[in-house]
Amino acid sequence: MPIVSLTNVSKTYPSRSHGEPEVVAVDDVTLDIDQGDVYGIIGYSGAGKSTLVRLINALEPATSGTITVDGVDLTTLGERELRRVRGGIGMIFQQFNLFSSRTVRSNVAYPLTLAGWSKPDIEARVTELLSFVGLSDKAKAYPEQLSGGQKQRVGIARALATKPAILLADEATSALDPQTTHEVLDLLKRVNEEQGVTIVVITHEMDVIQTIATKVAVMENGRVIERGDVFDVFSAP
Ligand code: ADP
Ligand code: ADP
Repeated sequence: MPIVSLTNVSKTYPSRSHGEPEVVAVDDVTLDIDQGDVYGIIGYSGAGKSTLVRLINALEPATSGTITVDGVDLTTLGERELRRVRGGIGMIFQQFNLFSSRTVRSNVAYPLTLAGWSKPDIEARVTELLSFVGLSDKAKAYPEQLSGGQKQRVGIARALATKPAILLADEATSALDPQTTHEVLDLLKRVNEEQGVTIVVITHEMDVIQTIATKVAVMENGRVIERGDVFDVFSAP
């Protein structure tokens, strides 16, 4: 059974001002992501990738179609159940989205505090996470004292804190240089292989997909125009 399944999913935004047409950001997308996949979604800016992520993460409802996460149809859920689905999905971002006024340790602890974990459990989990991402010595540092790659490793630790089954990476390496990009992608590969987390990688960079993903969907104008094993999709005919 796929862990994420989209069937004929569309998302239309109303026109921003009178007289302008509505925007079809996601247009009739059907897509299955299997448990354990590293699934790439690639496309140019405006292709609909971020909208797709917000739909999977239940941050916005689809206009039509069906989205299931772990076999549960999101359209049938109320707000409290949707929050639980979101709790099972970690996210990392291009600009890292760390709290600048909090230490590394406090950033990673944040989702655990929200989830109501006890202090000792939080301590133990954060220590384990910082060790996993190789930042044990930066626990008391503030984000501004870190390099871009270190900030994203904090982002990954925070995203994994509550042990989600799925990690959504939205342009997570787009602000990083090539060397740092590869370090972060290596870490994501370990997250997938050692922890069994399903990873969805959204990017406009083919190199990122070829480095880490096994399957890919190519988006254009809201549609999936091609998909399959990375090797088949990107090798010359
Ligand atoms: P196409 O290149 O037209 O997608 P495929 O042989 O890859 O051709 O797929 C045929 C049909 O099977 C597609 O139209 C799609 O509906 C479905 N399909 C293929 N791959 C997937 C997938 N990963 N998730 C869900 N449906 C898929
Ligand atoms: P990508 O992530 O591939 O750059 P997006 O999903 O951000 O693409 O955008 C897809 C299309 O939807 C674009 O035309 C964008 O302008 C439009 N769009 C995205 N979010 C909104 C919104 N909240 N309101 C109106 N239009 C939007």
